[in-house]
Amino acid sequence: MDFTSSANDFYSIEMTTVVGCARQCSYCPQDNLSKAWSEKKPEERKVRLMTKEIFTSMLNLLPKNIYIYWTGYAEPMQAPDFHTFVKEASSRGIRGEISTTLHTNNDENIYALADRKHLDKLSLHLPDQKGYMKSVVNDKFFERLDFVVRNCLKEGDLIHFFGPLNNDIISFLKEPQYRTYLEGVKVDEIPMDDVDALTSRAGNIETANTTYHSSKVFCAARRLRQPVILPNGDLYICCMDYSLSAPLGNIFKSNYVDIIENNIKYFRKSQPEICHKCEWAEPKSMRKSSLLYVKSLLKK
Ligand code: SF4
Ligand code: SF4
Repeated sequence: MDFTSSANDFYSIEMTTVVGCARQCSYCPQDNLSKAWSEKKPEERKVRLMTKEIFTSMLNLLPKNIYIYWTGYAEPMQAPDFHTFVKEASSRGIRGEISTTLHTNNDENIYALADRKHLDKLSLHLPDQKGYMKSVVNDKFFERLDFVVRNCLKEGDLIHFFGPLNNDIISFLKEPQYRTYLEGVKVDEIPMDDVDALTSRAGNIETANTTYHSSKVFCAARRLRQPVILPNGDLYICCMDYSLSAPLGNIFKSNYVDIIENNIKYFRKSQPEICHKCEWAEPKSMRKSSLLYVKSLLKK
């Protein structure tokens, strides 16, 4: 494996199942996404929600061994059909993982999280105490959390939150009945009072620190074979691109592998502006330190 490449040697994709996330976390550049989306041509904006039919059409065009990240630019379970996506991917032997806030209007979506044939990893992105995430923590939420903790979580999964975790959720998770279910689940708090701990999402969040690299860069996160797809089939360079500034093409108009490989060729010569502002970008002259960094991540 070439650790200094800007792309992994396998194809993966991040699914944005709806344009616009209702959680509106203060640390997420949803405003940039909303502005960029509103500036698209009307015909490009016709489809903003992924349905079963759209997802099936996408799978028919993606590499058979694609790895799916249910993340992208929104809570994936906002799509009422999310549970059908999991079923379809599972039936094709496609693997993936999800980061979810558990906010959905459909219980079937919650039950789908128990399909660990498809979901290698489950990350619960839970509401904080300070209201950075616009969330509803009520009886329904706890009913779902109870189901997920008892039936879906397994060793190696993650519970993460920005700022202090909601106090009611802390009390809930501390109940002795959940102790065995939570064994081996990693808990990760991202401190909101430490601006250095926050990512600027490649300059999309102005209050977070970022560095501009004026020379050629490479992607230490190796994201060039992991674009984000929107429900209308548009592909963007990666999960940092909330401003939709680096479009790659559309899966319904061009061959997916050609789109990705052409972008990699282009990237070797010239990188889009967003990459010069990105936390994951490193000047090519720093390749050696990146190699050491990526190796250290793999050891965790
Ligand atoms: S961080 Fe996640 S849950 Fe929060 S607004 Fe952004 S996409 Fe939605
Ligand atoms: S924006 Fe950052 S993470 Fe995305 S491809 Fe560019 S360097 Fe990599």
